[in-house]
Amino acid sequence: MASVPVSLGEHESLMTEVQVRSPSTATAATTAATTMKHKRPTNWLKAYLCQNKMTFGLCLSLLLAITIVMSLLFLYALHTRLRPQQKLCLTPECITLAADTYNAMDVTVDPCEDFYQFACGNWDKSHPIPEGRSVRSSFESFVNDVVDLYRELLRKPVLSTEPDAVRKLKTFYQTCISTERDSPAVENATYHILMQHLDRFGGFPPLYGEQWQSKSSLERLLATLHLEFNIEPLFELKVAADDMNNSQHIILINHPSLFLQASAAYESGEEIDAYLNFMVSVATSLGVDRSQARSEMQRILTFEKAIANIRDDQPSNTVMDFYKKISVGELQQMVKSINWTVYFHIVFKEYIPPDQSIVVLYASQYMEDLERLIRRFDIRTMTGYALWRVIASLVPDLSKTFREAHYELARLTQGAALNGIGSHCLLNRADETFAQSMTYLYLKSQSDDNIREELQEVILNIRSTFYETIKRNTWMTNDTKKVALAKAQLMSEFIAYPLEALNETYLNISHAHLNIAFDNHLNNVINLLGNEVRKNIALFRKPVDKNQWMTSSAQVNALYDSNRNAIIIPVGMTRPFLYSSKFPHFVIYGRIGMVIAHEIIHGFDTNGRYFDEHGNLNQWWNNETDATYRETERCIVEQYSNYTYEQVNMTLNGNTTRSENIADIAGTELAFLAYKQWLKVHGDERRLPLLDNYTHEQMFFIAFSQIWCGNYLNERLRKDIRDMIHTPFRYRMIGSLHSSHHFSRVFQCKENAKMNPQTKCTVF
Ligand SMILES: [Zn+2]
Repeated sequence: MASVPVSLGEHESLMTEVQVRSPSTATAATTAATTMKHKRPTNWLKAYLCQNKMTFGLCLSLLLAITIVMSLLFLYALHTRLRPQQKLCLTPECITLAADTYNAMDVTVDPCEDFYQFACGNWDKSHPIPEGRSVRSSFESFVNDVVDLYRELLRKPVLSTEPDAVRKLKTFYQTCISTERDSPAVENATYHILMQHLDRFGGFPPLYGEQWQSKSSLERLLATLHLEFNIEPLFELKVAADDMNNSQHIILINHPSLFLQASAAYESGEEIDAYLNFMVSVATSLGVDRSQARSEMQRILTFEKAIANIRDDQPSNTVMDFYKKISVGELQQMVKSINWTVYFHIVFKEYIPPDQSIVVLYASQYMEDLERLIRRFDIRTMTGYALWRVIASLVPDLSKTFREAHYELARLTQGAALNGIGSHCLLNRADETFAQSMTYLYLKSQSDDNIREELQEVILNIRSTFYETIKRNTWMTNDTKKVALAKAQLMSEFIAYPLEALNETYLNISHAHLNIAFDNHLNNVINLLGNEVRKNIALFRKPVDKNQWMTSSAQVNALYDSNRNAIIIPVGMTRPFLYSSKFPHFVIYGRIGMVIAHEIIHGFDTNGRYFDEHGNLNQWWNNETDATYRETERCIVEQYSNYTYEQVNMTLNGNTTRSENIADIAGTELAFLAYKQWLKVHGDERRLPLLDNYTHEQMFFIAFSQIWCGNYLNERLRKDIRDMIHTPFRYRMIGSLHSSHHFSRVFQCKENAKMNPQTKCTVF
């Protein structure tokens, strides 16, 4: 899965919809009352009739006749009304869920012709994109609920009784959202803090024109910006587990991020124009002479474009082909323009001998090209670009003038403004550093918590269904199958939150060296960024702790970690819409079940499959099985590349999205089989009112599909199709169903129906 950009203040009034649109509540109440009335008259009649001059025989015959008539009436009632009612789930959770599900559907559409329209047609109509936004989806509404909950918790007063780490988190958030930030005094102070930092490198070159003089070598510039601002303009370096030997940490070097993220964005005229305007606007706000700003920023942009040009966003090779472990000396030979001994010494505070093979490269070609690039450009341009990336990354944390320039960029490139400041403070800043404190606050706010135990049955069932699927597999050779099974069985789980989440000592230690104060937000952010990098650098030469949690509960996203061979389902993902223990199991398996299965399958997707049962990069597929897998992969790439998103008349890229599509197709299938297994063990379950004409199996697919209801603005949709690794909503849903034989069977789709294509790319 991946996180969804979130917005502020968007609520859907589900309760209103339930009360107005769900007639089933009233019907149920009326029927219950009627049943009660029917039971009494028998005794009443008997008492009345038999006391008045009737012979006993006549009285008995009459009573018998009445009893027969009443029994027939009762049986009729039972058949026509009571029986289906007894099978309905009428709890408040089920009624809300039923109304929500039903209201999203357009039941006039044939599910075999267009399942998206059938499951989400009315959702799309009743959820237009609000002003200033570029996308609206059912999943995003779910995320917003979690974000709103955190925002409420973080706004509460900072208490002296709370753990130090929680006090720091609340102080950080409250300073971040404070309107004080835009007061002239704070604005002025913020400006000077930024300038002081830039001056250490000779200042931001556009501010000084040709008078600019460097105060730092390239090595010192790169190392310091990384350590203090987490900015890595030329390449990305981090300490990570070695993919070939994951008990050890190594230095991992990869290509750098770009401000516009996708390299393709630098080829689009419109986006580049908007970006350059943004750059000029920020530069002039910083004090760059208006007449010089455009040419100065154009110079920086030319360098950024050159970097975009040598990056490979859509590699056709696998992770196996890219892995290269080299020594510092070999790296020096590859990129001569950087003195790596000096650079590593500043970053790691130690001398690393040139013969030590401690660097893993996933971007050899990029690094070779980078050497040529550094030779082509002067230090002024490179410093300008590096400092620009620092400034640009801090724009949301500066004053209103800067933030408005940022909103304008988003409006021009995505068709809408960015998320509000509260979301930025929470998701882009606090969540990274304060993951444990956020989890602590969340858990403290919940009254009953046994989510781990509740989910255990679902996970166990999905896992054992997957083991059976692997055992039944016909395209894997026995040797490969054995490792696949071991990998599935050894896969570990990080569910909801870490065991030590409420341990205050543990919590405080992780933030002991972090300074956060109410004085100035920018200072807080810089402290936060430096703290994160230092924590990562400190891992160097330490063994990998495989039990360490690596995600926050606020970021509503599930993960698969190939190094640990582990799935991670944070507590934020286990809330209603995706999960409630009170939901029928067709919904539990169709939603959170599908999420869990999707993550398990990532262990066997395009990249995940190259890691073995212990999480090490290892070729465990024999040639025969490997060839069949590639065939299936090709089938899936072709399937998705044949979709055209009619709204923008754009063809999807089945290649960049293939890993996610594999996880979607196989994950949905696995969750469905696990649900069938549940039905086998537990038998029939109660249906949802309004939807009781659909079978349990049909309901599984309806519940699953409604995760992906969503509307896009054209600009945003075009960008997502071009840049994202996930297929956009409509085809994310349809793609999974097109490959499912179960889906066609369950809905009895004819052979020529649109939702029942002849070619089905089945993975497992
Ligand atoms: Zn995924």
